[in-house]
Amino acid sequence: MEHSFLKKLGIEKENSGICAGGVWLKGSGEILDSINPATGQKIASVRQGNANEYEEVITAAQEAFKLWRNLPAPKRGEIVRELRNEFAQYKKELGTLVSLEVGKIIAEGEGEIQEAIDMADYAVGLSRSFPGKVLPSERPEHHMYEIWHPLGPVGIITAFNFPIAVWAWNALIAAVCGDSMVWKPSSEAPLTAIATQHICNRVLSKHGFAGVCNLAIGPSEDIGEKMASDRRLPLISATGSCNMGKKMAQTVAERFGKTLLELGGNNAIIVMDDATLDTAIQSILFGAVGTAGQRCTTTRRIIAHKKIKDELISRLTLAYKQVSIGDPLDTNTLMGPLINEKAVNTMMHALEQIKKEGGKILFGGEKLDREGFFVTPTIVLAPKDMPMLEKETFAPILYILECESLDEAIEMNNSVSQGLSSALFTNNVQNEHKFLSPEGSDCGIANVNIGTSGAEIGGAFGGEKETGGGREAGSDSWKAYMRRQTVTVNYSKKPPALSQGIQFGTPKKK
Ligand code: NAD
Repeated sequence: MEHSFLKKLGIEKENSGICAGGVWLKGSGEILDSINPATGQKIASVRQGNANEYEEVITAAQEAFKLWRNLPAPKRGEIVRELRNEFAQYKKELGTLVSLEVGKIIAEGEGEIQEAIDMADYAVGLSRSFPGKVLPSERPEHHMYEIWHPLGPVGIITAFNFPIAVWAWNALIAAVCGDSMVWKPSSEAPLTAIATQHICNRVLSKHGFAGVCNLAIGPSEDIGEKMASDRRLPLISATGSCNMGKKMAQTVAERFGKTLLELGGNNAIIVMDDATLDTAIQSILFGAVGTAGQRCTTTRRIIAHKKIKDELISRLTLAYKQVSIGDPLDTNTLMGPLINEKAVNTMMHALEQIKKEGGKILFGGEKLDREGFFVTPTIVLAPKDMPMLEKETFAPILYILECESLDEAIEMNNSVSQGLSSALFTNNVQNEHKFLSPEGSDCGIANVNIGTSGAEIGGAFGGEKETGGGREAGSDSWKAYMRRQTVTVNYSKKPPALSQGIQFGTPKKK
């Protein structure tokens, strides 16, 4: 293998992609190659799992759950802290692997590992502070309260673009909640998942809980769809496209399972005529070009007030000209490649369609003639009624739209079927609060003078409408990974009183 640091992460030329209870299984499925999108060359290969091995993975998760759920939450937190320390120790190597495998620039690759570290810190704190409720009972000498119990083995399905952070949002919270888990990562980023699993195995097996984190790399039909219909996984947390989420939601609902869906976004930034343009332009650049436009929170639409639209376009174009495109491992690079050839073709087809629908390409729009899957970031002047505005093309295409008022801008912001992230740039307090009011943005995330991407882990992350409605990471997102039990205790020695004043079966005194 060309990259020697991979050995440190336990990555070989050929790897098993299926791990049950800390044991790597042979993997009798097809070989999957992990491709470096900056070169189109193979990094290493993975032997995928099939239906038989899937059974072993589920059994391991079920067995581990029986033990893990009884370990006190703060003790589970102590083990998650050890995971955190391993992520910190291997931050550089893991971050480099993320960049190598999915093509995001090294600062973002390492940023993902930092996100996993932050999530672990958060989960450790949570393990000692899970809140609960005591509620007033209407009956004398009764206590009423809520207990939160671990839910069971959780199925985690992740997208390619955050190959470790999305797992961390789910897995580290699920772990302190007392759940075991089965992870099906994207087939575009199997090596990052294998390296993460090695870390989990090292830490968890030391404590006799190897089966808490399990890995099942395989085709969606063999592994992902099996997970969706598997009653032994009471929760499926799935991150990916809206199409995938729709299928998941239906299959899991059919068996009355729970879903936590984190799906596509179509995020807009509104720039008002009173905004500080310097701040807005910086945020637009990061939001639209960062991760080569392959974030769920990528800025896809700018809704610019007509008074500043032309200035915004000329300054933004200047900023786009300075974006260095190239090797994601070079610290001078701002934009790496798209994930694969298919993504490049999808972008090129989208641009053809945009032109047919009246969109005007102001900057970029090219496929670069070099090895790897590189394109130029693109700015499009778009008519308001362009059908392509509805679509999330997972590439760096930024639409500029014009508005005359905040009301109109909010209507445009809310007009798409996705509802993940939104932002407003303004220095006007009325504008700000209108945007944050019930008649403002309809998205799960609404920012003022901050762009659409780069959320902190302390807040609940997720979106409305076709984004799926799920919430992950901070705030009370942990509740998705637990089941709630309402408890009433009669601490008198008398027969329990019935609520609503009902008298039942008590002989009347004559
Ligand atoms: P994708 O939908 O192609 O795949 C996501 C995951 O789902 C992969 O692991 C894939 O193998 C699996 N999958 C696909 N079809 C399946 C099926 N029928 N049954 C079971 N599993 C199936 O998405 P992608 O290209 O990897 O990622 C990009 C998409 O993810 C974008 O739409 C992006 O907005 C979204 N995303 C959303 C968030 C969020 O938090 N809202 C975060 C990251 C990415």
